[in-house]
Amino acid sequence: MADVWPPLPVPVAAEAPTAGRAHLAGGLPPRLRADVLERLAAICPVDQAEPARVEAGRDWWPLALHWALQGQVPALPAAVARPTTTAQVAGVVRICDEAGVPVTPAAGRSGVCGGSVPKAGGVALDLRGLTGITWASAEDGLVGVRAGTNGLAFEGRLRAEHAMTVGHWPQSMALASVGGWVACRGAGQYSTRYGKVEDMVNGLEVVLADGTVVTTGGRAPRSAVGPDLNQVFVGSEGTLGVVTEVTLRAWPLPPQEGRSAWSFATFGDGLEACRRVLRRGATPAVLRLYDGREGARFGGDGERSVLLVLDEGDGAQVQASLAVVAEEAGALGSAGDVEGVARWLEHRNDVAALGEAVGAGVVVDTCEIAARWSALPAIHAAAVDRFLALPGAAVISCHQSHAYPDGACLYFTFAGFPPPDAAESFYAAAWGAIEGATLEAGGALSHHHGVGLLRSSFVPRALGSGHAVLVALKAALDPRGTLNPGGLGLPGPHQVVAWPAG
Ligand SMILES: Cc1cc2nc3c(=O)[nH]c(=O)nc-3n(C[C@H](O)[C@H](O)[C@H](O)COP(=O)(O)OP(=O)(O)OC[C@H]3O[C@@H](n4cnc5c(N)ncnc54)[C@H](O)[C@@H]3O)c2cc1C
Repeated sequence: MADVWPPLPVPVAAEAPTAGRAHLAGGLPPRLRADVLERLAAICPVDQAEPARVEAGRDWWPLALHWALQGQVPALPAAVARPTTTAQVAGVVRICDEAGVPVTPAAGRSGVCGGSVPKAGGVALDLRGLTGITWASAEDGLVGVRAGTNGLAFEGRLRAEHAMTVGHWPQSMALASVGGWVACRGAGQYSTRYGKVEDMVNGLEVVLADGTVVTTGGRAPRSAVGPDLNQVFVGSEGTLGVVTEVTLRAWPLPPQEGRSAWSFATFGDGLEACRRVLRRGATPAVLRLYDGREGARFGGDGERSVLLVLDEGDGAQVQASLAVVAEEAGALGSAGDVEGVARWLEHRNDVAALGEAVGAGVVVDTCEIAARWSALPAIHAAAVDRFLALPGAAVISCHQSHAYPDGACLYFTFAGFPPPDAAESFYAAAWGAIEGATLEAGGALSHHHGVGLLRSSFVPRALGSGHAVLVALKAALDPRGTLNPGGLGLPGPHQVVAWPAG
């Protein structure tokens, strides 16, 4: 059965872009030399038709939705290659590397930061043909899956055919690939129980820039044989290698589920309750705290913050984690007086409003960051204040979506009504306000959406002295700068599109 891939969103007032117009200046001319094209076409299907190139020119980056109103995409590849095996991926990458042609891996194109935008033109490598579970062991709790497999299809097959789950439920479950989860260091909604994807990866198969196929990890639960090489590629956003197969940790299907919901006088009280729950070692799968504005969708009164809790797994463990939540929420003055989990489950993956809002002229996006518990209240306050001070700013709201013993992810949603010719500068200023507040307080630029083109200019500041290590890794693994040029803001020989321009 083929994986099902939903189309990219289109603002309500527009048609999906079909003409080959790129919004951002730069990149390679959209042509491949005839000899290179011939060699590539001998390996796998290569599509040079305009609709395929245009489709590969964007992802779910909300700013690109505005450009879609003018029929434009951020950038254009010269061609789209569609391999279906690791050997074909290796062949395409090797030829491009030899010929000096950039290669940008892409799968679901559900990235929201322009990560799979072909920033230097060249070849867009569509990995959606690499599908299927390759092996599974219920005894060891492991499953091998090809990287282009659609997330929802993968989880469905794992449940139906092997009675297991990996527990990774990103909101984009139906839109993203397993390789995309790994490439972006993704997080699912049940992350407090199952971890982020970097906790789930046991082994990888990766094609390097010169076409060499390597495997990392995958032999044992832990090892002390040098650094963890899996983690070199997890989060590398297609800049260090093309992930072709992933071994993930998997769990028996959960026999029990428990839910509760709580409200707090302030967002800070709710954060403190979450912190105490995690510090006591309880890990309810879902522990999401919504501010007053967002909490109104889940039974809140519009003022009080709302905490939604759901756990699944062994019955004794579920009861224990919910009991810890009840004690800590009670200690922070909550009476368990709301019921919102069922509503959240029903609407958690509904993103239809995005296209409507953009079509109506609203500049809207989300920005997720991570920081220590001690830094979160100040980041929250500063991000809200700085955003609301921007001309054209309308609304900013926030929830805590993923929690850890040492800190959590804050997920901001912002919207504004700048004049149409100021949409892009307003958008850049909004990101500057939230990320500036985060970095000044020592937080992480992104928790799970990654860097893409959107955040690339912040990376040197975000990584500090460690940035030089990443640059050196890139130079060692991809000396000709073939893979996803411009990704992670890394330097390289190819001319790339930039955002913000200039
Ligand atoms: C509505 C919506 C909700 C979302 N919710 C979540 C969420 O809850 N949690 C979350 O983590 N993310 C979320 N995202 C973001 C996005 O879905 C994830 O980043 C996802 O993991 C991207 O997978 P993809 O297959 O679509 O990758 P793409 O968008 O195709 O690519 C993303 C990046 O990964 C690289 N890449 C892709 N595949 C490979 C590969 N096999 N090897 C090497 N590099 C590769 C690309 O070059 C690019 O840099 C959401 C997105 C949307 C639109």
